[in-house]
Amino acid sequence: MYDTIIIGGGYAGLTCGVILAKAGQRVCVLEKGRTLGGAFQCFQRSGMRLDTGFHYVGGVSEGEIMHPMLELFGLADLPWVRLDEEFIEVHLDGKIYHLCCGYDRFAESLTKQFPSEKAGIDALVNTMRGIAEHIYQSVENTSGYENKLMQIPAKAWLDEHFSDPILKKLLCANAVTTDLTPELPLYSFTQSLNSFVQHTYRIEGGGDTIISRLRDNIIALGGEVRTGCEVTAFRDNGEGRIAEVECANGEFFAANQFISTIHPAISVSLMPECPQIRGIYRRRFSRMPNSRGIFTVQLTVKPGTIPYRNHVISLLGGTDPWNADYSATAPVKNMLINFNVPQNPDNTFADNIDLLTPMEYSAVEHWSDSRVGHRPDDYKAFKDAKAQECIELAAKEIPGLKENITAVYTSTPLTYRDYTGTVRGSAYGISKSASAIAGGMLSPMTPFKNLFFAGQSLMLHGMLGVGMTSILVTNVVKKVINGNER
Ligand SMILES: Cc1cc2nc3c(=O)[nH]c(=O)nc-3n(C[C@H](O)[C@H](O)[C@H](O)COP(=O)(O)OP(=O)(O)OC[C@H]3O[C@@H](n4cnc5c(N)ncnc54)[C@H](O)[C@@H]3O)c2cc1C
Repeated sequence: MYDTIIIGGGYAGLTCGVILAKAGQRVCVLEKGRTLGGAFQCFQRSGMRLDTGFHYVGGVSEGEIMHPMLELFGLADLPWVRLDEEFIEVHLDGKIYHLCCGYDRFAESLTKQFPSEKAGIDALVNTMRGIAEHIYQSVENTSGYENKLMQIPAKAWLDEHFSDPILKKLLCANAVTTDLTPELPLYSFTQSLNSFVQHTYRIEGGGDTIISRLRDNIIALGGEVRTGCEVTAFRDNGEGRIAEVECANGEFFAANQFISTIHPAISVSLMPECPQIRGIYRRRFSRMPNSRGIFTVQLTVKPGTIPYRNHVISLLGGTDPWNADYSATAPVKNMLINFNVPQNPDNTFADNIDLLTPMEYSAVEHWSDSRVGHRPDDYKAFKDAKAQECIELAAKEIPGLKENITAVYTSTPLTYRDYTGTVRGSAYGISKSASAIAGGMLSPMTPFKNLFFAGQSLMLHGMLGVGMTSILVTNVVKKVINGNER
């Protein structure tokens, strides 16, 4: 019998596991895949390590926004690689712009290029500073500062504070990893920009470095992490509590508490029929829109040919990044180019470059009955054509790229659906919307007294957002255990 069973071995499940194991609990993380990590997992192709999702993150060093969280999870001393002070190079309307790290440099460089926008730039930096200041209060008490910003749509706020269309676009440099929609809350938009402005980092060894450390920390603290354990049902005790979970391999796991980090709609589908759950609750999560998926092209290149770039490149080719068309036939316009840290970190040349562009699930829904390894030829042709389009765009910015590619691998929303179990291949789970009840945040509470939700659908996605959610949810679990709540 465990204290807490955690469903899902992605960043959310493993960080919840570390926090509770550190608090003295006997925890067990159950992951359905053979590999841990969810969107942080890496895979090998021809001896090269490739990343599934996670690429870069902000605010890692001491004094920055994520550092206390990394200390808590035991990740602060990992081989983080700080990116250039001009952390992102943005290509828009035929010109190249940069965003700088450090609040003052960020504000100064923008004000120099857009002097008439000083008031808006100052308001944005003040909002970023406010988020940084309140972040650890936010995970203790969600009714405060962040709730106000969760109810303001970021696009409307930017339209109110800025008039220069180029600057408004430039501030969307992270369009690909932020899932821009007109409903995106100001909190989500600014929190991610703020973390990058503090300083942006990649990590040697990719997402695997983070996931392996989290797993090792849980095990060192007496916890268990199991792969190949797909949870297929929650079983209740008839008194409003979950007693155990059932796995596809026939195993059952009993515990006092359960945290499900998988998509809430899937979690609800695993709950038993009982008086606590009304139909409306079951339908609620499956009706919520999910974020878009991502189409990823992973390129390996000939050794010593393409210099490694220690910054991110963002191409913003469309007219309006907030209402961009990411359907099957739409040309690729917004794309992120990420150079992964070379496998030998002393190497000044790249060995692997990823190209990422959002993609609606509808673009691949036609093939949704197929599974990995058994996809039809027209799906493969669609992927190849999209990959070629992405490579043509990237080649304009990276001299010599096309001639030096040694292999091309691609992932569509269907790949993510099948490998990381996300609903409709969504990259970031349930869409965050300023107009949603509770301003875009979902409660970790469920109709069962000892079952809680965590993970990227709840509050915010990404390493920072998911880490915050894990702290918030485990605080609730600890309070319940101490008899202070419920
Ligand atoms: C292409 C892409 C690029 C990204 N880039 C970045 C980035 O650069 N920086 C950043 O900070 N964030 C990035 N993100 C977002 C970030 O990776 C995610 O927000 C985060 O990994 C979500 O973690 P999670 O644990 O909530 O969910 P997941 O990673 O989806 O983990 C859920 C886990 O649960 C498992 N599971 C599902 N169903 C079951 C079941 N029934 N039983 C047991 N296990 C189950 C899944 O296999 C999976 O391992 C990116 C995401 C994508 C897709």
